[in-house]
Amino acid sequence: MVRHAGVNMETVRKSNRSAILKFINGHGPTSRKDLARAIGLTPAAVSQICAELLEEGYLLEKGRNPESRGAGRRQILLDIDHDAAFVYAVNIGPKDTVIALCNLGGKKLEEVCLPTDPLAAPEEFLHRIAEHCKKMAARHPLAREIVAAGLGITGLVDKEAGISQRAYGIWETEVAAGPILSKELGLPVQIENNVNAFAIAELLYGRGKEYENLMVIKWGPGVGCAMVIDRRLYEGRHNKAAELGHFIVDADGEPCSCGRRGCLETKVSYRALQKIMPFAEGNFGGAYEAADEAQKEAFDEAIRLFAQTIVNSATIMAPNRIIIAGSLFRSRKIRDLLAENCKKFDASFGGERLMYSDLADRESYIGPAAACVNEILF
Ligand SMILES: [Zn+2]
Repeated sequence: MVRHAGVNMETVRKSNRSAILKFINGHGPTSRKDLARAIGLTPAAVSQICAELLEEGYLLEKGRNPESRGAGRRQILLDIDHDAAFVYAVNIGPKDTVIALCNLGGKKLEEVCLPTDPLAAPEEFLHRIAEHCKKMAARHPLAREIVAAGLGITGLVDKEAGISQRAYGIWETEVAAGPILSKELGLPVQIENNVNAFAIAELLYGRGKEYENLMVIKWGPGVGCAMVIDRRLYEGRHNKAAELGHFIVDADGEPCSCGRRGCLETKVSYRALQKIMPFAEGNFGGAYEAADEAQKEAFDEAIRLFAQTIVNSATIMAPNRIIIAGSLFRSRKIRDLLAENCKKFDASFGGERLMYSDLADRESYIGPAAACVNEILF
């Protein structure tokens, strides 16, 4: 009995601590009094948890609430010290693997990129990643407290067990990537699907601070999508929610990697767009400008189908914002083309409903950093 009570107390303490850190992360410096009111805890409980967090260095005191007239500790503003701890962010993609060392705010100290090696045994490749991490840490003595790592990977993952279940083009079998990397680094590791991880980053560091419901679309090489509902990632049955790329847009279309036919990905994936017009990665706008009429027409049709699928999905989910990211959308020309097409289908897309991610310049590593901070530390 006593043991059970202990476990429960610990869970409650962790969840209250997480609520406080997430609230301050989302709203900026907050007084203890306002924290208690917002989270629904007693002032005494808030004071006790904040004392712990101050002691550990996660929180710091930052002046006094200008709107308060009362004196005392309860009106002092508390903020997160983003340099209190650091994390490794590892993103394993089909082509490249990015490793970064970041603070709690997702600001990187350094980033390295190495080719993903699908021919190496997973243990061997993860060992190589860990060696890079350790070398990086040695170059940044100020990042003394490295406390966890985030691991982003394509395909399905089992977050509880830390398993990559199906990472197409990377590993053919299930790989206990989390536990392997954890053992190598001697740190807790949070594994997450790369697109979901990017959505968590939006939640923690991007638009999710302002909006409760988001659809996050990450292009390249396929079409990744994640849904944030009431500030939580919605994963659905078998973690397969928000498969925007596998909306059927052409009943008689080409076979898709998912086993069906005519999915959006068969029209707008990297490979599909390459077939319409050749382009260099990162210069889609230039390639579009240089294309001939027939190529432009085919590309416009692909973007029109993309827009139609986004608008239809938004009709079901009603997100506040639809966030787009990925190398295709680095081009303003292509972003505008998509937005215009969405607007033709639905006038509510006229304003900023469809927007380019604030985190686009950090998209190579910000996802796993956020997943790790969000799940393990905050
Ligand atoms: Zn499909």
